[in-house]
Amino acid sequence: MALASFPAPWRVITLALCLVLGMPVWATPAAGGTVLAQAETAPPSGARAREGVDVGRNSAFAKLVPADDIEAAATKQYIEMMRTAASQKTLVSPDHPQLQRLLHIAQRLIPFAYEWNPRARQWKWEINLFRSKQINAFCMPGGKIGFYTGILDQLQLTDDEVAQVMGHEIAHALREHARARMGKGAATNIGASIVSQLLGLGDLGRTVASYGVELISLKFSRDDETEADLVGLELAARAGYDPRAGVTLWKKMQAANKGAPPQWLSTHPAGTTRIAEIEKALPLVMPLYERAPKD
Ligand SMILES: [Zn+2]
Repeated sequence: MALASFPAPWRVITLALCLVLGMPVWATPAAGGTVLAQAETAPPSGARAREGVDVGRNSAFAKLVPADDIEAAATKQYIEMMRTAASQKTLVSPDHPQLQRLLHIAQRLIPFAYEWNPRARQWKWEINLFRSKQINAFCMPGGKIGFYTGILDQLQLTDDEVAQVMGHEIAHALREHARARMGKGAATNIGASIVSQLLGLGDLGRTVASYGVELISLKFSRDDETEADLVGLELAARAGYDPRAGVTLWKKMQAANKGAPPQWLSTHPAGTTRIAEIEKALPLVMPLYERAPKD
């Protein structure tokens, strides 16, 4: 039987997804992900060019899961994590100089986050420093930021480099990469039943939020990583942190990788492609940095 005449369930699913995500339904189903990728990156029509990096809109897949559900799941995991850290005494005290330093950098970056995601204004942003040799950092959906002493001490990060790590992690939250990943997972895992489930998005969202995904150690796609690098560079540049630190940061990561692979590197490959992409983006963000107030 010719494939073209076979009414495969995935065609129905693709059509339903197009309708829900507001994408053109005349796009050939055979194009699958390609169609969606175009919809994800198309600039809003009539939008004027803005200064800085261009990464298009947030992924359409994110719409399949309510942001409230993801943020609530993140808060729950965060509370659990803080409880464990408190009992194991791994949290540094609030007046610890390194935590004060992180707080200062976060306070400079966060005002520039709102443009990327209006929900960020309402987030209850928090920052904590965990005593651990791990080279690691995260920002959960909803703005809960965590750093491990290992990343600061072992890499001897400058403020500019800390701003790159923090900007990168905040960018994942702003661009809703976790939400999109769960939306994509729901769309592909649920299969044919998605057609009926799509009629009740709230139910689908609750299903996804209860998957129990570890929100601090998600491995994102290469595209999401590039996006986070670019948005992070811009956030840091606008806040007055040197974007060229993006290059030195990843070179330090590469060097650290020579021994045992650090935690952050297991989800963040520090390849030469990554550094080359950051270098290519520098001309887009250097003017923002040069004009930004410094301290
Ligand atoms: Zn990342």
